[in-house]
Amino acid sequence: MKKHLLLLTLVLFFAVAGCSEQSNLSGTMELRVETEHFLLYSYPEDAQVAELIAATLEEEYPVITSQLQTELPEKVGVSVYPNMDLFRRAINDTSTGDWVTGVAWGNKIEMISPNNPGTAPAADEVTRVAVHEFTHLVVAAINPTAPKWLNEGVAVYYGKEREESKIRQLVMSKLEKGTLPAIRQFETSSQAFFEQDGYSIAYSIIDFIVSRYGTGALVGFIQHPTDYDRIFGVDEDSFVNAWKEYIEETY
Ligand SMILES: [Zn+2]
Repeated sequence: MKKHLLLLTLVLFFAVAGCSEQSNLSGTMELRVETEHFLLYSYPEDAQVAELIAATLEEEYPVITSQLQTELPEKVGVSVYPNMDLFRRAINDTSTGDWVTGVAWGNKIEMISPNNPGTAPAADEVTRVAVHEFTHLVVAAINPTAPKWLNEGVAVYYGKEREESKIRQLVMSKLEKGTLPAIRQFETSSQAFFEQDGYSIAYSIIDFIVSRYGTGALVGFIQHPTDYDRIFGVDEDSFVNAWKEYIEETY
């Protein structure tokens, strides 16, 4: 009997805790900002942050679409969620790690509010997550089956949500320890890719491609991700060696 009471108390506690989080929200998720290329939805409390995200996205839109030579045919909807719970419910994934702060699919971006980003990232990093996710939509328009590492590398490159000096330090130390993965060793599940520092490592490959070969070659590679010889003039192994030399020289 006691056990049942305890369980009931616990259930009630979580129900009330869940409700109180809900009831702190005033109003509903609504369209707050419409710009040339984006539609920003949020709760009233995130209206200001929606303005900031829209401005950041519009600033980056011409850079990303011109360098990747791809325009999106429709305005992109961006939904900003006021807490982790609502965000996870929206993306239908209640078990995702705290480091997941945005997703992109179809013509939409779902993201956590920079006002309440949870434990992992800083607020300005979360604003840049919108740019990271937008880049995924552009990559998907070029090649919907681009490999994960390439897709994420390009998104981190244009998203700039991670501090570049920290990325460089991390990748350099992996090179020194001899623990940089070969391209075919990149994990394909998000959690495993995160744990192998795939985001930073993939960024360094995209950085290498753009500085050595230019954004035109990057677009060609997104279209044909196995065509090393034609796009870079060398096979995959030589490409990887040249990337490591680039890190050694410039990171
Ligand atoms: Zn991503």
